[in-house]
Amino acid sequence: MTRPDLRLLSLGAGVQSTTLALMATDGTLPGLDGAIFADTGWEPRKVYEHLARLEKVLNAAGIPLYRVSAGNLRADSIDPAHRYASVPYFVLGPTGSCPRCQGTGHITLEAVPDGGRELLPGEEPMWTVPAGAIEPAGADTAVCPACKGSTKALGMGRRQCTHEYKVVPINRKNRELLGAAAPDFRRVPKGRVVEQWIGFSTDEIGRVNDKDRVSYVRKRYPLLDLGMSRKDCQRWLTERGWGDTAKSACIGCPFHGNAQWRELRDNHPDEFADAVAFDEAIRKGGARGLPLDGEAFLHRSRVPLAVAPIDRVTRKEWGDRSPDIFDALAEQGDPDGCSPYGCRSGAAA
Ligand code: SF4
Repeated sequence: MTRPDLRLLSLGAGVQSTTLALMATDGTLPGLDGAIFADTGWEPRKVYEHLARLEKVLNAAGIPLYRVSAGNLRADSIDPAHRYASVPYFVLGPTGSCPRCQGTGHITLEAVPDGGRELLPGEEPMWTVPAGAIEPAGADTAVCPACKGSTKALGMGRRQCTHEYKVVPINRKNRELLGAAAPDFRRVPKGRVVEQWIGFSTDEIGRVNDKDRVSYVRKRYPLLDLGMSRKDCQRWLTERGWGDTAKSACIGCPFHGNAQWRELRDNHPDEFADAVAFDEAIRKGGARGLPLDGEAFLHRSRVPLAVAPIDRVTRKEWGDRSPDIFDALAEQGDPDGCSPYGCRSGAAA
């Protein structure tokens, strides 16, 4: 295999990619030419503080940190003049509508427990209905004659935000650094390749995929090479004084678990209030496009975040608890953040 022209870390600023960044500075993983952080403009303050601290260490090691952005995800999502980039809101459809077609004529498919049809060739899925989300038809429900779905309309918006606000600007920077010409940085000089370091750990091996493949990027997963899990990374960071590395995810990401919402509410009330205000603003969809035929919510209960049952500990949150001191101290509900190449907040992008 030919040597890459550049080695660049996709830095989400969460546990795994911070581990890789620091390993590049202490010689464990030599040869890194830079790190790229895609800023959605809506990360918690803690993440930006962490990034500033990390940048100093990277710079001291001669590794530049590049911050890139495709805009402010929060502002864009509720700007009627802005093109709609779908955030995976939890959707409650209008009574009587089908959870899979929502009156759009587009029907989903993934994870529909039964009775769903497959997408036709070339058909775009419009909704993803999590397994189990469709309630069995009963006294207060009916069955959609078209797709056999229950009319209790529980759905989830498609996730495009990770691609649009992270992968796209990172690849633009990749092309620029490989020598593509300004101002649009579209064409990479022939044969030039970047080795992109991605922080998937061994517990995330299922996230390795070939999606977003482009000719000028060769993906590499150093934590898999090192056999390191997320907990290994947390221990490694703690031993070096980086144990408080925060998850990186947008303040109002619908994939937050209850523990994350509680953490915001109890320790960062201004950020929680921001998420509550955003939740109110997206009830009918938000940015440009047809108003949502139903209602959108940030919390999985599909009630306004301000009154959502975030104090209830889910079975998953209990299940994730362990005697491990790092977990016990942090009471991690959903440990996931949003990684550019496989958003850890839910299914891979
Ligand atoms: S953290 Fe959530 S809202 Fe933000 S880009 Fe990732 S999936 Fe989208």
